[in-house]
Amino acid sequence: MKFIQTRGNDATKPETVTFSEAILSPIASFGGLYVPEKLPELGEAFLQKHSNSSYKVLAKDMLDAFEIDIDSEVIDEALDLYDNFDDASNPVPVVKVKENLFVSELYHGPTRAFKDMALQPFGVVLSSIAQRLNQNYLILAATSGDTGPAALETFKNRANVKVACMYPDGGTSDVQRLQMVTEDADNLKVIGIHGVFDDAQSALKRLLASDNFKEALQKKDTKLSAANSVNFGRIIFQIIYHIHSYLELVRQNAISMGEKVYLNVPSGNFGNALGGYYAWKMGLPVEKIIISSNENNVLTRLIRDGKYDLRESEVVSTTSPAMDILKSSNVERVLFDLFGHQRTKELMFDLEEKNVYELTSDELAKLQESFDADWCSGEEGKKYIKATFEKDGYLMDPHTATCMKSYETRSNPAIKSIIYSTAEWTKFSPVIANALTGEVDTKDIEALESISKVAKLKIPVMIQELFTKKIAQKTVIDKDDIEKEILKFL
Ligand SMILES: *Cc1c(COP(=O)(O)O)cnc(C)c1O
Repeated sequence: MKFIQTRGNDATKPETVTFSEAILSPIASFGGLYVPEKLPELGEAFLQKHSNSSYKVLAKDMLDAFEIDIDSEVIDEALDLYDNFDDASNPVPVVKVKENLFVSELYHGPTRAFKDMALQPFGVVLSSIAQRLNQNYLILAATSGDTGPAALETFKNRANVKVACMYPDGGTSDVQRLQMVTEDADNLKVIGIHGVFDDAQSALKRLLASDNFKEALQKKDTKLSAANSVNFGRIIFQIIYHIHSYLELVRQNAISMGEKVYLNVPSGNFGNALGGYYAWKMGLPVEKIIISSNENNVLTRLIRDGKYDLRESEVVSTTSPAMDILKSSNVERVLFDLFGHQRTKELMFDLEEKNVYELTSDELAKLQESFDADWCSGEEGKKYIKATFEKDGYLMDPHTATCMKSYETRSNPAIKSIIYSTAEWTKFSPVIANALTGEVDTKDIEALESISKVAKLKIPVMIQELFTKKIAQKTVIDKDDIEKEILKFL
């Protein structure tokens, strides 16, 4: 399978690239992204064939359909990492919350958030390509809390890849910070930045534009890659669990094969939702994809009104920080799929230059055939957390809780819904403890204990351990000193 470019070809980059090439340098012509030339058509026969398959068997067959240039043994090794999830026989449990409402739990991996779903196998794949080419790669990541731990965990001690990860000091939960600063390996560097996530992100952008930095990398014979969800190497692993979740419902006799369901996705950079959209295009029976946001509701406005408008917008900090995003990168891949490369380029250039683009009414109608959306404030979210726990006995995190509102406001209750749960309660415990008991200003460790008591849930070992583990990464600096610090690490 070849990969083409969302903004067309600029005649300096090749027209098409392989999967490995798209992974190694994920930015395409005119700043666009790589997308498969054509999605494999799986259809109902594929679903029937896998009605009793394990997650890994399903995943292998789906990846095979993409005909990617990765050796079969490497794919097997990558998929074997799902064996380290809580239940090796089912890494993604799908749980009934109430009549017609199900939660697909994507957080049973090592860092307790859904980033593991894609990053775990991605680490093996990227490292294997780098080894095959005998090249060294540096992954730079700016994280608001979930990508960092998952990226560090997957690349720890992997050959030919180094990771430098920047986080806003004080801008993540204790658990997220500890997950990063306790990671001890020669190929990992974690850097706290004085400031908020946007400072970490803009520092990273400046670094990527620095000639001095580029030169230094060249001297060290190191190339840059990216592990964020613009990388198709992550997206491909995010198609699988949508198909798996559907088949789980069939296995549980909750739906019959062919019955359409809603996919309700708590969204930030739109990788998760895009995975669902691709699964749908490949043959999954879907009624609609519902995009759930927090106060940073630019996606709600796009899908309802056809306007991506950042002119008056500033990122606000919320109780669901992994969704505190205004430039949602993967929307571009949907634009490309619906409107082609010329129009996508035009829209994305408008966004970059004028901070706004607007779809025509025909285009909006097309977008709305696939998507609907709503947003949920932190206060509302806490009410949903409490109510769902008390009425249905199900505990969810603040990201997942945003879906409860859009489930009520945007879906037909007679049609089954799958809500994607992107984080375990342990990752955002102060907010959840506040929702359940009213307690305020508790630290993570206290909040974990109080939730554990109220909800009768055990704190998982890998979370408990964090509080006594040695701090291996102690660097906290001003954003102006990042370049120096990273060069020192290299
Ligand atoms: C990353 C993340 C999201 C957003 O997912 P996207 O694929 O970027 O839309 C939502 N919730 C949690 C907990 C996350 O870590």
